Amino acid sequence: MKSATATINLDLLDPLRTLEKCISKDILPIEAVFHYFNCNGCRQDKVQGWKYRDEIDGQWKFFTIVNRCSDCFNGRQSKEVFSEIQQQRNQRLMDQYWLIDPMLKEAGFKNYQVHNPVQENAKKIVSQFVRSGVKGKFEPENLLIIGSFGSGKSHLATAAARSFKEKGLCTGFLMEEHYISLIHSSYNGGRKKEADILQDLKRFDVLVMDELGSENYKMEESSWVSTRLLHLINARKGKATIYTTNLNTETLPKAIGERAYSRLKVNTKIVDLYSTDYRDNFLQ
Ligand SMILES: [Zn+2]
Repeated sequence: MKSATATINLDLLDPLRTLEKCISKDILPIEAVFHYFNCNGCRQDKVQGWKYRDEIDGQWKFFTIVNRCSDCFNGRQSKEVFSEIQQQRNQRLMDQYWLIDPMLKEAGFKNYQVHNPVQENAKKIVSQFVRSGVKGKFEPENLLIIGSFGSGKSHLATAAARSFKEKGLCTGFLMEEHYISLIHSSYNGGRKKEADILQDLKRFDVLVMDELGSENYKMEESSWVSTRLLHLINARKGKATIYTTNLNTETLPKAIGERAYSRLKVNTKIVDLYSTDYRDNFLQ
């Protein structure tokens, strides 16, 4: 869409002729002078218009078509267009990378079963993480939720992801096996290349990577998987990520590789659902 100023075709040399096109046919300006008005956006006198007198009372009147200068008008318009494109892109990403377990699709903080102080504390940390992220500053940057099957770690991660999504943050959720099989397919004629997948995953405001370290035990190619995980962890640098694992701080480094683990620890708080001692690790 063109701006109003562009479609009117300002005739700077002949303001009278241009004015006649713009104001009522019944009023005939007898004199017109080009005039600059203050812009409603930047407040500078950059809005083009006219000062004119007509035959009715001979008084000077002012006329302008728009209330913003073309810089502010175009700037605002392109910001709106940009934000719309970004929203569409985020929606596409979320449609593609929202692979939560159907069993957990209703998981929230309210229906998280707390049986002991460890779970109570974990719930507190994760909901605090959500509150800080929604306000715009994740504290800490990442969480690593560790616990056995049934400890509720994926439930908490899902609850957090759903809350972020509801609050309008671009949120993705996938299990390690999804990520690894996506990368595999990128080598086997898949639509996206590995770099594209990483680029996608980098874009999320928040990403949950569920069941970290689970693939390495199944595969012969553990160093290949470790490298893929390292790439993902690097791609998520500066962005909030929630990792969950049913391994512990001794077995996880072996499963995902020491390098990936040492990167993972940066700006990451451990939420330990194994421990009976519920003080936190890393960022204490
Ligand atoms: Zn302006």
